[in-house]
Amino acid sequence: MMSEKAKQNILLTPGPTPVPEDVRRVMAEPIIHHRTPQYRKIFEAATASLQKVFRTKNPVYTMAGSGTSAMEASIVNFHQIGDETLVVEGGKFAERFTDLAHAFGLKPVVIKVPWSEAVDPKVIEAELQKNPNIQSVCVQLCETSTAVLNDIEAIGKITSKTQALLIVDAISGLGADKLESDAWGVDLVIAGSQKALMLPPGLSFLSVSEKAKDRMKGSNIPKFYLDIKLYEKGLKDWDSPFTPAVTLVIGLLESLRKIEKAGIENVWKRCTEYAAFTREQLQKLGLQIYSKAPSSTVTAARVPEGIDGGKLVKIMRDEKGVTLAGGQGSLKGKIIRICHMGAITKEDIQKGISVLGETLEEMKMTAKSK
Ligand SMILES: *Cc1c(COP(=O)(O)O)cnc(C)c1O
Repeated sequence: MMSEKAKQNILLTPGPTPVPEDVRRVMAEPIIHHRTPQYRKIFEAATASLQKVFRTKNPVYTMAGSGTSAMEASIVNFHQIGDETLVVEGGKFAERFTDLAHAFGLKPVVIKVPWSEAVDPKVIEAELQKNPNIQSVCVQLCETSTAVLNDIEAIGKITSKTQALLIVDAISGLGADKLESDAWGVDLVIAGSQKALMLPPGLSFLSVSEKAKDRMKGSNIPKFYLDIKLYEKGLKDWDSPFTPAVTLVIGLLESLRKIEKAGIENVWKRCTEYAAFTREQLQKLGLQIYSKAPSSTVTAARVPEGIDGGKLVKIMRDEKGVTLAGGQGSLKGKIIRICHMGAITKEDIQKGISVLGETLEEMKMTAKSK
């Protein structure tokens, strides 16, 4: 049984995000077998709908696994051992690309970006000119740990003129921040189910351009479960190489229908509007916005001097029914993050920020009385 408290809890974290009731309901139906016309039809419709959200004509592959599986797939299928890859490192998730590159024998060339800032595309351009051996550029659309939005359109203009593949981690940003995969020349787009796509965790997605597909031929990195060739073959008759996460795919079709009904452009617009509202409300509380290039997916604000950010998040979650995210890595205890993607409503945000204001006041009072 769910406690009253858990029921009321407002989830404002950047994944998992709230799952709408109609999506939960279709996932509560009895399980079906995946090698049936019934499932194939659902998978086909979900894949077609995914392409619309990705804004691509390229195939989009669905894998059972968290978002990181598609990140790993983008490394192991499209590189050779020893390849140089340019990693834009401006946060915790960006560091994962560096870790993945090391794990599979690539040579990461790292551009360190201050954590509150977006990468300057000119720095990428200069690096690619200096080093024509670079085979790919790895960057986040929204770097969820810092709430920074990178200018993928500008980066795409640069990589399109080179041999380098543009790999974009849009695990949080897809379906919240504008992303025109084809028009902007993104070769590999990575997404996950538990963020703006309003599903439980467990699915990851990867779209593959022609330029990227070409690169697959020479890839000599060991792989098995995440071998895109197998998924490519499967997609020909709406099949998966391994048992798909049937229930989540059924939920996916339902959540994508909701996005399609609203229209993806309107969804972007709504997230941008909520993001502006969130920043405005936080500033009214006297808080400073952390990111210099704020995203429409999530907003980060600095925790006031003398307040323990970890404690703040804990009090709000355990005593007041509002779950925010704190900071990760070097930002632990220093920032709070509030999401405005997916099924999160303006009322949720409003309630969350009002509870935040109240809790901050209480903590300041306690600090004074000590
Ligand atoms: C959440 C997130 C990830 C990690 O995804 P998992 O589903 O936890 O594997 C990677 N990159 C970004 C930008 C994210 O927001």
